[in-house]
Amino acid sequence: MQIENFIDGKFIPPVNKDYMDNYNPAENVVIATIPNSTSEDVDLAVKAASRAQLAWSNLTIKDRIQWLRKIAEGLELRKTEIASLESIDTGKPLTLAAKVDANRSVSNFNFFAEHAEQLGELRFEMPDATNYVKRKPVGIVGLITPWNLPLYLLTWKIAPALVMGNTIIAKPSEMTPLTANLLCEVLASIDFPDGVINIVQGLGKNAGQAIVEHPKIRAISFTGGTDTGKIVAATAAPMFKKLSLELGGKNATIILDDADLAAAAKGAARAAFTNSGQVCLCGSRILVADSIYQVFIDLLVMEIEAMKIGNPRNESTDIGSVISQTHMAKVLSYIKLAVEDGGKILTGGSRLLMPEPNQEGAFVAPTLIEGLPIDSRCATEEIFGPVATIHRFATDQDAIAMANATQYGLAGSVWTTDTERGKAVAEQVESGVLWVNTWLHRDLRTPFGGVKNSGVGREGGDWSLNFFSELSNICVKND
Ligand code: NDP
Repeated sequence: MQIENFIDGKFIPPVNKDYMDNYNPAENVVIATIPNSTSEDVDLAVKAASRAQLAWSNLTIKDRIQWLRKIAEGLELRKTEIASLESIDTGKPLTLAAKVDANRSVSNFNFFAEHAEQLGELRFEMPDATNYVKRKPVGIVGLITPWNLPLYLLTWKIAPALVMGNTIIAKPSEMTPLTANLLCEVLASIDFPDGVINIVQGLGKNAGQAIVEHPKIRAISFTGGTDTGKIVAATAAPMFKKLSLELGGKNATIILDDADLAAAAKGAARAAFTNSGQVCLCGSRILVADSIYQVFIDLLVMEIEAMKIGNPRNESTDIGSVISQTHMAKVLSYIKLAVEDGGKILTGGSRLLMPEPNQEGAFVAPTLIEGLPIDSRCATEEIFGPVATIHRFATDQDAIAMANATQYGLAGSVWTTDTERGKAVAEQVESGVLWVNTWLHRDLRTPFGGVKNSGVGREGGDWSLNFFSELSNICVKND
């Protein structure tokens, strides 16, 4: 399969005609070649987006909402294919890709269509004047997304940007180009206006950096690692671009002494190992009250060892491969470091060698490590793989202090049978998203984002619509 860029409504090769290999990490085979785009391709995309901007922003919001619904219908018809492409591109189980990635990619468009329909007028009366707020598009916006939830995260940005009247230059991760390409096929099949959505494939340091640097791109919505976020911010901030940064996390799962231990063990295992731990919200630090520590560990290890690791194509597989050989080496190096730092591996701890066709795949056993200091590297740095550390605490205040002892502040969960106690703990954890007795339970209207080094700004519902708008207040003096 040869992927091309999608610029001005057409599939076109990169200007330099340079392509890179794209791998299926569960089988370690090349499945596609993709453009290694440069600033020249980004320039072409910006020219197309500029030409399309006026007509797109002049449509009524109702017309744009109709387009969102048409895209959702087009994607809905290809949901099985989305799941399959996402699975071979990332190594995640097909069933997970169907349930999470394919469904959310469609529902992002339906959700923002419905949410924009309910967008109220902003009006502020004064005794002698009336203020009304006009929402205008920002213009051309740049969207940069990671590999863990490829189409899910891309459409989470595309849908609100579109509905508010912006034109788009997007760059998916170079490791997961396939479903962005499928989205372009859907756009072509429904005669979506040319130049409104442009996808430039390629590397972050080339195509991604060119998007962030381009003076005509007025806003950047970036989801990815904290170190990359720093580079994006350093480039975009002096140009006064609007900037939304959704970055890394090292989230705590806090098990209080009154928790329903069976439910908490299931929840903690799911939070730590869904998608091989490659979700920014994954709970990779499990904090457990002293009095229940050993009982809980036994339950948790049982839950982890019951997970079926294997060929992502099999329906019964719970855990597939990690994203690449390079990432597997990084994850394994953290496990080695944990042992050197005095950690004890309770389960997992190594690469898994699989039968054909996965014998070369990047499989790592879900790994639980105890005995590490809470400030050790494995307990504070984002590993972004199937590795969790477990720590004990004495009081709720200790748990909160341990949860907050990282540079990150994205998410977390608290498990207890006392909801008020759970809320009191959750409110003191420095994070943008907290769950009590659940995990990854999302209402798309709510604010989503991190504090500290987990990001700047919020996405979701009104927060996304506001990010992709410029608000003009017009104050009219009464007669
Ligand atoms: P990276 O930061 O490596 O990459 C994210 C995207 O940025 C990719 O498309 C990448 O391109 C691109 N990129 C790299 N360098 C630049 C640059 N200089 N300028 C512009 N773009 C650039 O993250 P990963 O893809 O490895 O994703 C994992 C990370 O994402 C984890 O830290 C995870 O926590 C975070 N994440 C955060 C979420 C949140 O909502 N807070 C949600 C999901 C993930 P390429 O890699 O193709 O070269």
